[in-house]
This record gives sequence, structure tokens and C-alpha cells, in this order.
Amino acid sequence: MSFEQTHRSQQQTLSRPALIAGHGLFHGIDVKVRLRPAEPGTGIVFRRVDLKDRPEVAAHVDNVRSAARRTVLASRSGAVVETVEHLMAALAGLQVDNCLVEIDAVEVPAVDGSSMPFCEAILAAGLTQQSTERSLLTVEESHGVNDRAGEQWIEVIPAYDENATIDYRLDYGPEAVITSQSFSVELTPEAFLRDIAAARTFVLEHEVAALQQMGFGRHLTGRDLVVFDADGSVIDNKLRWQDEPVRHKILDCIGDLALSGRVFVGRVVARRSGHKLNHVMAKSLSTIEECQVLLQRAS
Ligand SMILES: [Zn+2]
Repeated sequence: MSFEQTHRSQQQTLSRPALIAGHGLFHGIDVKVRLRPAEPGTGIVFRRVDLKDRPEVAAHVDNVRSAARRTVLASRSGAVVETVEHLMAALAGLQVDNCLVEIDAVEVPAVDGSSMPFCEAILAAGLTQQSTERSLLTVEESHGVNDRAGEQWIEVIPAYDENATIDYRLDYGPEAVITSQSFSVELTPEAFLRDIAAARTFVLEHEVAALQQMGFGRHLTGRDLVVFDADGSVIDNKLRWQDEPVRHKILDCIGDLALSGRVFVGRVVARRSGHKLNHVMAKSLSTIEECQVLLQRAS
């Protein structure tokens, strides 16, 4: 896959630390996260302050460890951080390039199942432009990945606008409890806050039972996320938008693609893509970075 750099702007970090507390979505452990300002070029780095030597793990696709239904990061130094995607989406959606995320347990707080509480904390802390330019990446040709059955795919397409756009189609088939829905958004902080950040995690009722049997999410009720019953009704809760599920899939996609370590400019088109496929695309985008470094050295 080839690339070029087209747009430039300044990197950003938080103006002062921001604190978010809660319990993890899967493990239910009480946890505090402190988002701290970081130097230009740091990227997003997690630090486990509850462990000896406070090990760190960079929020990079190379550190992704396989896990069901969530994004888990693990480093050689022993730092494991789970369910990072909604916090990653908040940071990427608000265009925060550099942040040290201190966390005192294994899993990021679930908050309300969306990215909005993270966004509110970040905005309350304020953002500071840094002296270093942000490199924005765009591809020269389309590049896609899909699952073996061809039912899920994600593709990046060249576009020379100032921001990325994501077009997502959620389609689980004609018999599915969740009806097919599509959404398209240009990735500006304003659009992210308005249309995507508050979209919550959703799950089917029978999936909840299976997850709880595996020991996950035993603390959760229908108030903590969106649970659809077999008829497609939401249990003990109300949708924020009729198409909240597709908006949440875009939110996950933004968080997962941010693990490429690159700010992508262009069009992303996805159908039913989940964490696994998003990570494959993030890996592709991160590889472009390596090519770029090599080419810069050669020139
Ligand atoms: Zn999610």
C-alpha cells in the first residue's frame, strides 16, 4: 500500500490532568484513570500505576492481544490494559495526539458504555496545541480487508479532504434482531461529539447470559449498556438514537484504527467490521508508517 502526506496541523495534548473513575465492563473492578499531558511524539501510552515498577504499554496495534469483544493491550513489561477502545475513540475523536493514561487496575472504566464521559473529562481539562506538527496520512490507492466469508469488510479509500470520513453499514441479515442501519460521519471533533461519542455498547440478551457464564459482566444490568431482547426491544433502557448501534460500531472503529498510531485522512468504508478486522486494518495503516520512515531515510 502506498501513501503520501498531505495535510499538516499541530499535535495536541491535555492542558492538565483529567480523572475518570468507575468499574470495568467485563471484570467489574473499581478503577481510576488519570489522563495526563504528554510530550509531542509520545502518542497514547498506558501506565499501570498499581503494579510494581509501574509498567507501560503503548496504545499500538503491535501490542494488541487477542480477546473476545474488546480490545486488550499487553506489553513485554507486564502491563495489560483491557477494553481500551472507548477511551481511545474519545482521544482520537477529539484529536488528542499525546496522553499518558495512568490506570490503577486491569480494565478501563465502562462509564456509560460510550465515549462521552471521557470526552467531557478531556474537554473540562482543556486541550493545548503543541509545537510539533501532526503528520496526517492518506493512502494513494484503496486497500481493504475482509473476513473469510466476505460478510465483513473494512476499506480505506483515498480522499483529499481535510478530515477522514467513515461510512459504516451494520447488517446482521434479514432475520437479525437488530435491523440493518447505515451511518456516515466526517471525523471532526464537533461531529464526533454530536453524532458518535454518546453511542453506547450494545449486546443481545442471549449473549449476556453466555458472557456471564464465562464470568464476565456479572455486575451489569440493562442500565449499564444497551441490551436487546429477542424481539429487538431494549431491556430496562432507552436508545439515544434509533440507529445507536451503527453509531457505536463507528465509535469502536475510530478507537481501533487509532491503534495504528497514525492520523488517517481519507474515507473508511466498513460493513459489520468488528474489533478483529479493525485491528487488521490498523496494522496495515501502521505498516505504512514504517514504509514512510524507510523512504525518508532513503531520500
Ligand atoms: Zn464498543
